[in-house]
Amino acid sequence: MNKIIVTTSWDDNHPQNLKLAKLLNQYNIKGTFYLTKFNQYETPAREIQEISSCQEVGVHTLTHPKLTEISLSEAREEIKGGKDYLEKVVGKEIKMFSYPYGLFNQEIKDLVKEAGFLGARTIEKFVILEPRDFFEFDTTLQIYPFPLRKRDAKHFHLTRHLFDSLINNFSGIRKLNLPLKCFLNWRSLAKSSFDFVVKKGGIWHLWGHSAELEKYNLWQDLEEILKYIADKKEVLYFTNSQVLEYFI
Ligand SMILES: [Zn+2]
Repeated sequence: MNKIIVTTSWDDNHPQNLKLAKLLNQYNIKGTFYLTKFNQYETPAREIQEISSCQEVGVHTLTHPKLTEISLSEAREEIKGGKDYLEKVVGKEIKMFSYPYGLFNQEIKDLVKEAGFLGARTIEKFVILEPRDFFEFDTTLQIYPFPLRKRDAKHFHLTRHLFDSLINNFSGIRKLNLPLKCFLNWRSLAKSSFDFVVKKGGIWHLWGHSAELEKYNLWQDLEEILKYIADKKEVLYFTNSQVLEYFI
């Protein structure tokens, strides 16, 4: 695959989702916002409509349960109910779904298909290939403090966090054969992985949570990366469903 595609996706309801949607717009980057009906925060209908007018809205269930740990009939209601709810709010078809906590199995995938979605996003990272299974649409990179979180400096479990963070990303970094400088910080990792996709072709799929942009103060990091990846003639900027539709 020689084409270069950039897409982003954002999970969970949060008061800052609208700010994030506007930031993406500013750089002409597309994103899909996966929302629940209620989970800690109920996004007002007009905010959902505003996000939907400039970016894509996807379903993240009604109440964010672990779908593999509830009954199939409850899971069906969470999936289909989430679609019905958002479609009523935005007045158009909702094509994409994302699995809360990234948890799914074959039965859950089948329920998502049965509900009429085009595809579903996972939380698998360091994938840049064309999606073979639309109901396992993987990502490339999560925006999250790397290799350390700011609070870790004072944290009792410092070594443990560093270890987890490296283990969590090391095989992916090796798989893409990224340069050593990507271990410096998240921005380097983001730039290196984007450069890799530009060179080889593929999909660069960034995902994250507004809640973590706030919690770990990552807005500046994100904006630096949006600037870095924006306005490239050879790149297609798509929402999640546009990526899948491109491969139909
Ligand atoms: Zn979530």
